Amino acid sequence: MLERGIRMLKTPVFAAPAANAALVASTIERREPRANDVLIEIDYCGVCHSDLHQVRDEWGASKFPMVPGHEIVGRVKQVGAKVTRFQVGDRVGVGCLVDSCGTCASCQRHHEQFCEKGAAMTYNGTEMDRVTPTQGGYATQVVVDEKFTLKIPDGLDLAAAAPLLCAGITTYSPLRQWNTKKGDRVGVVGLGGLGHMAVKLAASMGAEVTMLSTSKNKEADARKLGASGFASTKDPATFTKLAGQLDLIIDTISAQHDYNQYLGMLRPYGAMVLLGAPPEPSPLAAFALIMGNRRLAGSLIGGLAETQEMLDYCAAHKVQSEIEIIPMQKINEAYERMLVGDVRYRFVIDIASLRQ
Ligand code: NAP
Ligand code: ZN
Repeated sequence: MLERGIRMLKTPVFAAPAANAALVASTIERREPRANDVLIEIDYCGVCHSDLHQVRDEWGASKFPMVPGHEIVGRVKQVGAKVTRFQVGDRVGVGCLVDSCGTCASCQRHHEQFCEKGAAMTYNGTEMDRVTPTQGGYATQVVVDEKFTLKIPDGLDLAAAAPLLCAGITTYSPLRQWNTKKGDRVGVVGLGGLGHMAVKLAASMGAEVTMLSTSKNKEADARKLGASGFASTKDPATFTKLAGQLDLIIDTISAQHDYNQYLGMLRPYGAMVLLGAPPEPSPLAAFALIMGNRRLAGSLIGGLAETQEMLDYCAAHKVQSEIEIIPMQKINEAYERMLVGDVRYRFVIDIASLRQ
């Protein structure tokens, strides 16, 4: 089809037409690959709790219609004339970012997620022209600059690699930032998509991992994933038993909760890193930090170089996601199950279901 002189690629998707509306089958148009672009035929897309926050406009300023999905894996179908790193047929991935300015201090440091001009997010954002909406991976294909395309190493199962593109890098990055090593005592809060990757990755780095969960029935799984300890956060005794015990806490809870009581589990100079992004703020007592020089920090996904490093690390250490594959048509049900913590441990959409 010709439109304003540019050939567009008609693409079947599942999209949210408005905030809180169920996702429905629809079509969008992708751009024809430019010189530096790759056209990716999508095989699988992971389902992140951030998809749900944004579809329900819980963070504000969501744009509709919205095609969510930023844990994209597939195969290269076509490359632009100047593409050097990819060939047709390569196994590739796309995470939360599809472009950035490439010249600011953050981009120069390979922290594209903090691009001073505002990185182009994979969906619910705009391209760097600040006009063209971006649309995500609940779709049959996507067109992305090769700089924002990742190589999926051979050792990884394609479907189980999809969640690494967000849940994997988001947990790998803070573990690296805090130099996690053998013998460190790491607490992981919330056993969902991010949480299960945090347990696997921290254990693979030699840490002694304690799972902190509201769901006692996840204990056996937590241990299989690599945790050596498990404590129910519904039991107030957990917070006294573990007081002053942990070097690092990775907090992945998606809903409002009391940070102060978790901070009490840190040893002096220990740090708690917020990854979960509840829409509502939470009160913080100064003494929760002052006593013991404790640190409270946040971390946002990772840059492209670190994401590739994480994928290569996962292949070398045989770390991948535990997944439940669903057809696209089950996405609304999957969201409801995520809301009640019923996901073991990442839904991954089989995009073949969109092609039927
Ligand atoms: P998820 O799979 O739904 O897991 C969240 C887990 O948190 C649940 O399985 C549950 O674990 C626990 N939880 C949920 N509601 C809770 C509540 N009210 N109180 C206590 N615990 C609760 O979600 P996800 O995909 O891992 O994402 C988690 C959060 O991280 C979301 O807010 C998401 O937007 C955010 N995120 C941030 C980044 C970043 O760059 N910082 C990247 C991706 C996602 P238990 O059953 O074990 O208690
Ligand atoms: Zn995500």
